[in-house]
This record gives sequence, C-alpha cells and structure tokens, in this order.
Amino acid sequence: MIQRDLERGLVELLVDHGVVAAGSAALGPLHFDAHQARLRVAAGEASAAHFTFRNPERASALVNSYPWARGYISIALAYATSQGDGVASVAAYAAQNRYDDLRRVLLSATEFLGHEGVRAVSVYDANHAFDKGLARRGGVGFVGRHSLVMVPKFGARVVLGSIVTAKELNVSLGQHFRVDPCRGCRRCIDACPTAAIVAPGRVIANRCIADVLQRESWSRDDRRSVGVRVYGCDTCIDACPVGWRSRLPVEEAPLARWLVADDEHLLMEVGNWYIPRRDTYFVRRNIANALRNRGSLTLAERGALARLCLSDDRRLRREALRTLLAIRWGP
Ligand code: SF4
Ligand code: SF4
Repeated sequence: MIQRDLERGLVELLVDHGVVAAGSAALGPLHFDAHQARLRVAAGEASAAHFTFRNPERASALVNSYPWARGYISIALAYATSQGDGVASVAAYAAQNRYDDLRRVLLSATEFLGHEGVRAVSVYDANHAFDKGLARRGGVGFVGRHSLVMVPKFGARVVLGSIVTAKELNVSLGQHFRVDPCRGCRRCIDACPTAAIVAPGRVIANRCIADVLQRESWSRDDRRSVGVRVYGCDTCIDACPVGWRSRLPVEEAPLARWLVADDEHLLMEVGNWYIPRRDTYFVRRNIANALRNRGSLTLAERGALARLCLSDDRRLRREALRTLLAIRWGP
C-alpha cells in the first residue's frame, strides 16, 4: 500500500473507532515537558503517583525505549462528563472505562499498521511517555489553563494515547482552535476546590484531589478536601465552557455494592484504577469517606457499612464505624 493510502486507511480506522482528534510528528525529545517536570519536582509540586515525574528524562525521550521508531501518531478519544454540578463520585473517564476503549483503538491501529508492514507499538498512561507532550506536539489539541489537553467540542473530556511507528506518517484528524480558547477565561482556576491551579497551566499535584484520592495516608484536611469523590476529579474539566454540550446524564456509581463486594469482583469493576498496592481497602476507604462527607446514607449504604463493621480488616471496621457515627452524631 502506498503511504498516502496507508495514512488514509489509518484515519478511517480511527474515525470508525470514535477517535475525535489525531495528529502526528517525528519522535524527537520533549525538552519542554522534561524541563517543566524537573522544575515541578524541584519545587516539591509533583506527586509520586505521577510516574512520569520519577524519570522525566526517560519520559521525554521515547526513542530511547523504542530505538527503531521514527514517528508517532497521537490520538484523543472523547467521553462525556455529567450534567450535574461537576462533582461525580467517580470521574467520568474512569466510570466509562475509557482507557479500555482507548486500548482497543490503539490495538486495532497497531495491528492495521503491522499488517501493512509498519512496525508500531501503542503507548498510553505509561510512566515512560508524556502523553500530554506528545499530543501537544502532534497538534491534537491545546493545553488549557487547567494544564490538560483540550480539543474543540469536547474540551479536556478526552483520554490520550499514541502509536509509535517505525516510519514517520502524516495523520491529521479533527478540528483546531482558531483562537486561544482560554483568552479572558479562568473558570477552571476558580472552580478548583483545593486551589490546586496556582497559575495558568500550573497544577500543584499534591493539592489535586485526583492525586489525594490515590494516596495511602491522609491527613484530616485531605479527608475533608476530597468531598464526595471516590476516584478522580472532574471539576476543572466540567467548569470549562469548551465542550459543555457534550455533557450527558451519567449513572451514579454503585457505592453500596462496591463496599461489600468480594475483592475479586471489586477489582473486576475498578481494576483499571490506580489503587495503592492493589489493596482494595483503599477503594472502600475512599467510598466510606465520601459518604461521610456527603452526610447522608441510603438504606443500602447503611447496611453495607454495618456489614463492614464486622470485617476481619481492622482498617475497614474503623472506616465504616467512623462514617456511621459521623452521620448519626455529626462530624
Ligand atoms: S482535578 Fe480537581 S482538584 Fe485537580 S486541579 Fe482539577 S478541579 Fe482542582
Ligand atoms: S475553563 Fe477557561 S481557562 Fe480553563 S481551560 Fe477552559 S477555556 Fe481555558
């Protein structure tokens, strides 16, 4: 297949799989991203949970991981956030398992390229690549003041991934912003409940609720600051006027069921989340804390917490009791 047909075939495949934006570039080092990461680490603003910060040099030079690679295609797959107040218990990308969908798209694309004799591997949500830097350089979108990549019509309601290729391809899909969408706007900055966005594009990871929810130990302030969230935070994404129209009614997460599900079943449902040491206690801790912050319980949630009070795990008994007592007697 000649290169132009190959590129056209790839774009068709991406469109068929619901990809809303894609762009390509040569696989050069991402000096800007490495520099930003180093500054953030030096300032104590980075988080251990953000794996790319552990080794910015490695993450900025993907060619070291794939010495045969010459180019890459970055893609964005959209999802809808809730029409509510932007405070869903589980962030929409996780609730809708969009990384599963992204993995499927990337697999189809690498298989298609392999079939046509182009060596390719997929990279997403990995500690050896800056997804955001690759997307920015590939022209997929614009980095907003909330520091996330935005695309027209969807804003930052996208998950990002890349296909690293042995040959530089020219792929472009989706619309581009004609003017700076952040001009005169600071809604995301004002909406952040923990003031984590301290300057345009600069988020203090240690203050970001999405990060706090992935931590093993919590302070009293952490427990309060996360509010009713169990995993992830959509608030700055949802505050952004770009893509408001793509918001949809979203189902509530089955928190009561998750509280008492056995570990195997719970991990089948939330196994894509980052869970410290894969210990499901942390999922249940987050749920119990969110219910406590909500200040009310359904009958099913009350029953589930009562069952947890009989758990063999002392940590779970303490979390459940803490929530039941707080709601019965006040914090
Ligand atoms: S994800 Fe939430 S806590 Fe983090 S910067 Fe956005 S609004 Fe703030
Ligand atoms: S809310 Fe406004 S400032 Fe923030 S990313 Fe969206 S357009 Fe930019």
